[in-house]
Amino acid sequence: MIALDDLPPLREVIARHGLAARKALGQNFLLDLNLTRRIARSGGPLSGHVVIEIGPGPGGLTRALLLEGADEVIAIERDPRCLPALAEIAAAAEGRLTVIEGDALDVDMAALIASRPARIIANLPYNVATPLLVGWLQTDPWPPWYRSMTLMFQREVAERIVAPPGGKAYGRLAVLAQWRTEPRILFDIAPRAFTPPPKVTSSVVQFEPRHNPLPCDKRALERVVAAAFGQRRKMLRSSLQALGTDPAPLLEEIGIAPTERAERVSVAQFCALAQALERMRG
Ligand code: SAM
Repeated sequence: MIALDDLPPLREVIARHGLAARKALGQNFLLDLNLTRRIARSGGPLSGHVVIEIGPGPGGLTRALLLEGADEVIAIERDPRCLPALAEIAAAAEGRLTVIEGDALDVDMAALIASRPARIIANLPYNVATPLLVGWLQTDPWPPWYRSMTLMFQREVAERIVAPPGGKAYGRLAVLAQWRTEPRILFDIAPRAFTPPPKVTSSVVQFEPRHNPLPCDKRALERVVAAAFGQRRKMLRSSLQALGTDPAPLLEEIGIAPTERAERVSVAQFCALAQALERMRG
């Protein structure tokens, strides 16, 4: 049997299995094992953990996760063309790799983990990266079934996740991500590291779930944030009308000027607004 260390180079695997990248599936592959091992290591200690990987493709990051000591990797891949290449890694991994064919948006990952310590580590397909992230951030119960997430996004999306209040990048994604986790950009990856190279730089973002996020109903928060940023250039007294209730008493209760704009409202203030909205609706 071939050991993980002795698997053929990824370029050869891609050629042998005819894995020409498909744009519609967001396929930009990482073929440099030094880089994929760096990403795997940046996800924290892997031993003692199950790792969920979305979109293993030909398996560059998958191999790295296994080589860096994950107890088990559960990899969810939508493209059936990748399955034979992944089966070769599974054979070398001697029971530590489980491949699930399907759309990651439809998979109940918490059920797969079954309460074992878990991390999510992935080079995400850009077309479903944001919905996947939002789903993980909205997980209930909280703290979530995963101990950390280490995810690659287009740099522009990464900036929207970590943005502080006051700038254009600050919005729904920043509020949701920073309410429940501490996100930070670990490092960038240049387009040339990928095959084929995408147009933009990518960033690896690490999310540590907060044990005690500010108390706040996630649906109310979502409503307030959607209303506020839905018309981000308007003053809150006008944009929050979309909530279907007079925003003036809400803003007064929290001590936010009615002339303020969404961009300058902190995560804590959004949580307070959501709480006040809940109280008002009884
Ligand atoms: N992990 C590989 C790497 O780093 O080289 C491939 C990453 S590539 C950016 C994204 C992968 O996600 C592709 O293999 C693609 O087929 C897969 N994919 C796209 N949409 C998906 C979905 N909805 N569910 C699961 N996998 C998906």
